[in-house]
Amino acid sequence: MFKVGTAVAGKGEAARGVIHVGELALGASVDIPVLVIRGMKDGPTFWINGAVHGDEINGFMAVKTLAASLDAARLRGTVVATPLSNPLAVQWRNKINPYDFLDMDQQFPGDPAGQYTQRAAHALFSEVKTNADCLVNFHTVATQFAAQPYTVFKIAPSLKPEVRERIETMALAFGAHANCRVDLATATGEVPGGVAGGLDIQCALQGIPAFMAEIGSGGKFEADNIAFAAKGLRNIMSKLGMIDDPYVAPSGQLLVTRRAFLYCTRAGFLSMEAAPGDVLAAGARIARIEDLWDEREAVTVAGSSYVLMSRVNPVVHTGDRVAFLGLDWQQIN
Ligand SMILES: [Zn+2]
Repeated sequence: MFKVGTAVAGKGEAARGVIHVGELALGASVDIPVLVIRGMKDGPTFWINGAVHGDEINGFMAVKTLAASLDAARLRGTVVATPLSNPLAVQWRNKINPYDFLDMDQQFPGDPAGQYTQRAAHALFSEVKTNADCLVNFHTVATQFAAQPYTVFKIAPSLKPEVRERIETMALAFGAHANCRVDLATATGEVPGGVAGGLDIQCALQGIPAFMAEIGSGGKFEADNIAFAAKGLRNIMSKLGMIDDPYVAPSGQLLVTRRAFLYCTRAGFLSMEAAPGDVLAAGARIARIEDLWDEREAVTVAGSSYVLMSRVNPVVHTGDRVAFLGLDWQQIN
């Protein structure tokens, strides 16, 4: 039998269960829901994680879409899904949970004797480490932003070359146009906060190929991005030999190797003049900021830029993020 948390599946069976984390003051149990779909034939265990940031919920629906399309009788290997891996944050409709304010994707491998989020990370990671052969961790950009799906895969000097190669192959098979390779040795400061505690890199350090898929925006279900993600998962499964769909080799993809946030200096009301997927020349306008009467700032990009993420919510204060930009990239296929 294949067991994750309380979910137990024999060959050709699907099972639902939970990974227990802890409890709340009035006795409610805090559990991470888990779905196991075990094929009749042997094959890899593909783990799909979602909502590690609680308001990033497109991945949850992508898992539902994928699960509904799978036939355990024909599947080779096992799909394990934890689409709502940060349940307290999901219920708070927020990136983090309201009791310890920790970012769960900075806490792996977690701590069984720590704060709630550290314990949740530990409970999840213990099962991942035991069972997963490879993993996708679904994110979205924050609710105040828009993005087209893109992948992020991290490399560190200590990663085994074959793991690194499998990560890149799997990430590209997802089929996103932009794919960001983040070298943890050189990309320090690219994203505020630490990324060494990310689920993906902690898996990779254990020899489990893993990457992040950013699929659109948070706080809503986006049908196009959900469908894109479900299709991308199936293409990865084809590449892994788990299903019979013909593998579609990706083409026209970009490998982004340097990124930076663009922040505004003046405050006011922002209107974007570029969209995710746009390429801007050095010095080009990307947005304008105005007050009630006049334009206050024309926001421009310093160097040529690929727009990964752009702001949707117009109310901006000094230091708010306008966009997330690729600064170095190349077409790789
Ligand atoms: Zn996230």
